[in-house]
Parts: sequence; structure tokens; C-alpha cells
Amino acid sequence: MVDIKTRLFFALAPRTDESLGGYIIRLAEANAGHSPERIMRSVFGECAQPRLDRSTGFAAYCRTEPDDICGLSGFWRTGHGPVPECRLGSVWVVAKPHMSGPCRAICPQCLSDDSYSRDTWDISLYTCCIEHQCDLVDRCPECRRLLIWSRRSLTRCHCGFDMRRARATPTSSGRLFVAASLSDCVDRSRLSPDTLPIATNLAHEAISFGHLDTALQIIWFLGVSFPALVIGKISRGRAGVPLSSALTYADQAFHMLNNWPRTFVCGLDKLFTSRLEKSNYEAERVLRFVRDRIWQLTPGYDPLNMRRIFQQQTRDLLKRANRTGSLRSLSSQLELELEPIPL
Ligand SMILES: [Zn+2]
Ligand SMILES: [Zn+2]
Repeated sequence: MVDIKTRLFFALAPRTDESLGGYIIRLAEANAGHSPERIMRSVFGECAQPRLDRSTGFAAYCRTEPDDICGLSGFWRTGHGPVPECRLGSVWVVAKPHMSGPCRAICPQCLSDDSYSRDTWDISLYTCCIEHQCDLVDRCPECRRLLIWSRRSLTRCHCGFDMRRARATPTSSGRLFVAASLSDCVDRSRLSPDTLPIATNLAHEAISFGHLDTALQIIWFLGVSFPALVIGKISRGRAGVPLSSALTYADQAFHMLNNWPRTFVCGLDKLFTSRLEKSNYEAERVLRFVRDRIWQLTPGYDPLNMRRIFQQQTRDLLKRANRTGSLRSLSSQLELELEPIPL
């Protein structure tokens, strides 16, 4: 329960597409003597997880309507799945890896137009502003440090530099496509189909069914997990993703979708060959089987279906055959909804 004596003095109305973390920075700015961390601790306790079941106390603390507070994106909940989930708009998604830390990146021009942090900027693979068609900025051009959530001002770096003056680089069509699709999914800032960058209908359909969690899983699988597996890297699914890597991941996912299914199948072949070179009999068997099954089971090359079959087949075979290495690490990535293999 929030102590009434510790309530904030100045109230601020939350914006409809605002990030909870950004709102807390704005509250701290408006109420001298408060820092974002202090507000967070006062309302959510030491664990510092902004749980939705504390939102009523939070509304009382900042003298705002509970309904308005609940509309903010970035609340957490636990106990509804194997890992904590984060709410974006009205959708719950697996918090890691799909959400980055709050307010880690900004669009300088959007901030100049209206100083609040958009909720979509907190999605790890949302790397550009679809309105201004530039990459988001996560580093201060003056002191070269990464933006951190606990800063005292939404628009200023710790060193005092006004981030609205930061120069933003024009983005790529792939990043724009990924961002526009995710934005569509949270039902905001829709681009009309005419202004969408070059994308096949198939690719667009694949990640724009209106289900944010499905879109995030496909983009993550095609942009991060699968390419990492192909080059033999173990990807740590639940670790945070820096913006510098997310830019590449969004491009990779777009490339894979835009050249569907050729690039995916080439990747499978490469994966298969590299495992052969290492004479890993079990892995080879797994991959050969997976590849053949995908061909058999996916007439029409439906990306959703191929992804599902890849995961299903890999998981089933890994349970019985292969218990080590990067294939195993793939199976433990919760964003792919694979069950971990018992030791
Ligand atoms: Zn912008
Ligand atoms: Zn700075």
C-alpha cells in the first residue's frame, strides 16, 4: 500500500501510447527531489518490477485515474506463463527477449514534436521511427554513453545534452517493415499499404495477423535464433539485445521473409552441411530429418507453418537424440515456445 504522505505533488496525465518507464521519468522531472528509481521503489518495492497488480496504488501515488495508469505499456505480470510477461497496448508478451529496458532508445524528432516516450520504442526489435523513417538513437552524441532509464530528464542525457538535437540516420526498408508490422500489431501509427516499403504480400501477411506475440516470435526466430544457429553461435534468447544488434536482426528477419522460402532453406542446408563437417552424427540426423519433414509438410511455404514444424521436429528429435551444443541451446529458448530438454 502506498503511504499517502509520500504521494507526488504534481500529477501528469499519461499518454495513450506512452511507455510506463518514460512516464515515470516525466513524473520525476515534474516533481523535484524525486528520481525515477525512487518513484519505482516507492510504488513497486525493492524488486523494481512494475507489476500490474500495484497499478491502483501507483495511480493514488501519482494522483491519477487508475484507468489512465493501466493504459500505459510496460507493466509486468508473473504466473501466467513460465516467464514474466510484459504488456504492450492490450497484449501480453514474453518480457525477455521481446522487450528491452524502458526508454533505452528514442527518436529525436518525435521527442521534439512531443516529449514523451512511445511504447513501441521499448520493443527490442523495433529499431526505427516509422514516421520519420530514421533509426532510433540509443547513445548520446556528446558523451557517447548509452541512454539509461534512470536519467533525470526524458529529453536529456546524464551529461546534459539535449537528445532532441541528436542526429538520426535514415533507416533501411527492412527495419521499417519490421517496425511498421509491429506497430500495426499494437494497432497504432498505421502506415497505409501504399506507403509500406518493398515487401511481398506473403511476408507482410506472415507477421501481420494482428497477434503481436506471434509476430515477435517469427521476427525473433528468423532474425536472431535461426541465423545464430546457422553460423554455429549459441544465442542466448533471454538476454537483452542492444540496439546496435537489433538493427541487424531486423534486417535479417526482413531479408528472410522477403526471400521466402529460399533463404530459410539455404540456411537449413548450410546448417546441415556445417554439422556434417563436424561429424556430429546425432545433429546431422536431427537436421536431415527436420529438413525433409519441412519439405513434406509445408506445401505453399507458409512461414508460420514452416517455423512451427522446424521447432516441433527439432524439439522432438532433440529429446531423443542430441543433448549437447547449439541445437540444445535452441531448444531452451523460451521465446520459441520449446520445452526445455531434461538433463
Ligand atoms: Zn520519429
Ligand atoms: Zn551524454
